[in-house]
Amino acid sequence: PLVLGIETSCDETGVGIVRGHTLLADAVASSVDEHARFGGVVPEVASRAHLEAMVPTIQRALKEAGLAASDLDGIAVTAGPGLAGALLVGVSAAKAYAYALGKPLYGVNHLASHICVDQLEHGALPEPTMALLVSGGHSSLLLAPDITSDVRTLGSTIDDAAGEAFDKVARVLGLGFPGGPVVDKRAREGDPQAIRFPRGLTGSRDPLYDFSFSGLKTAVARWVEERRREGVEVPVADVAASFQEAVTDVLTRKAIRACRDNGVDHLMIGGGVAANSRLRSMAQERCADAGIELRVPRPKLCTDNGAMVAALGAEMVARNVAPSSLDLPADSSLPVTEPHIPGTGAD
Ligand code: ATP
Ligand code: MG
Ligand code: FE
Repeated sequence: PLVLGIETSCDETGVGIVRGHTLLADAVASSVDEHARFGGVVPEVASRAHLEAMVPTIQRALKEAGLAASDLDGIAVTAGPGLAGALLVGVSAAKAYAYALGKPLYGVNHLASHICVDQLEHGALPEPTMALLVSGGHSSLLLAPDITSDVRTLGSTIDDAAGEAFDKVARVLGLGFPGGPVVDKRAREGDPQAIRFPRGLTGSRDPLYDFSFSGLKTAVARWVEERRREGVEVPVADVAASFQEAVTDVLTRKAIRACRDNGVDHLMIGGGVAANSRLRSMAQERCADAGIELRVPRPKLCTDNGAMVAALGAEMVARNVAPSSLDLPADSSLPVTEPHIPGTGAD
């Protein structure tokens, strides 16, 4: 099926087009530069930027794919979770196109999309899929017997998300926003063994699949403040590398444990933090040692984009999932266990 996907849950206006598992277009406009001076995404600024970028980005994607909108079999859109005002822009645009073109509408889950996007990279997902979802707002281990209808949570963060920890540590180090990419870059010149930062929830009595990054973030902040108080220069690259090592150590250890315990022989890693170079290399090494096949999409497909939404939409069409209604709501707190918002039968 030929599906166009629209993503506006945060600060990226993404429009992607896929045919089944084949990526035909991936147009992304980001308002990240407008948020940088505030040190975080400002919802109102994001909504306005989506409004301005929406139609041009749809047109750019169609042009890139060499298609007319009338060729499409369906329109998919992120219905949640995310920023309410930002989501509304995408949902409204998707409804308008679906209605005007007479095409089915699929309101899909942003988190399930972060997983399903891997079909564009490595073909059909195994069933069940074991996924480590690590992004700006989420860090979870998920087991999905069917990515369009059945996603289960094995564990998740009890405080900060992994991406949030990267963003906060970058702020402590004065590296700006967003933190993930710049911490990744600075860490390459640092020694990951320089400082032993805590590995949250890895004790013998701790929950096996839950995460905690708030203690790590505080430990990094304390370590840095102490040096500053003493007037000692902060070894930014070493701190970045050691922090990154602690995050990736816990993430990969727990993910592999989950695979073993559940008799699953592959691991999918998705979400913005899956773009991290150390997470990718460590997962590669440890999965190889454990005899687990690793599936991680290319970095551009890990961070927010429209192709991931189109990928999940195409899977919905392929599996004859009933489309959403034209009164589809945006649900800012849509749980990961609901891959899509079913129709109400209103149209
Ligand atoms: P969610 O998907 O939970 O709704 P989101 O859509 O805002 O949140 P994503 O776009 O999936 O999040 O991911 C953004 C996060 O990924 C940010 O916290 C960012 O710092 C982090 N990130 C991006 N690139 C990297 C990288 N190379 N290393 C580490 N973190 C990264
Ligand atoms: Mg973003
Ligand atoms: Fe995301």
